[in-house]
Amino acid sequence: MNREDLKVIWFCRECGTSFVFRSDVEDHEENEGHSKISKYDLSSYTDMGVDIGVERI
Ligand SMILES: [Zn+2]
Repeated sequence: MNREDLKVIWFCRECGTSFVFRSDVEDHEENEGHSKISKYDLSSYTDMGVDIGVERI
């Protein structure tokens, strides 16, 4: 497990899905048509990494 990958996540406010990789966000925008996606910097939420429920792909 590499924490470097978890410093930034994206979260879709339209359906509640979270993303670890930028490429997944782009796929989601394209496939689902959702555009209200927020970016979160986990370096300022160091204790929330697990609670947010990020799924590693
Ligand atoms: Zn969505």
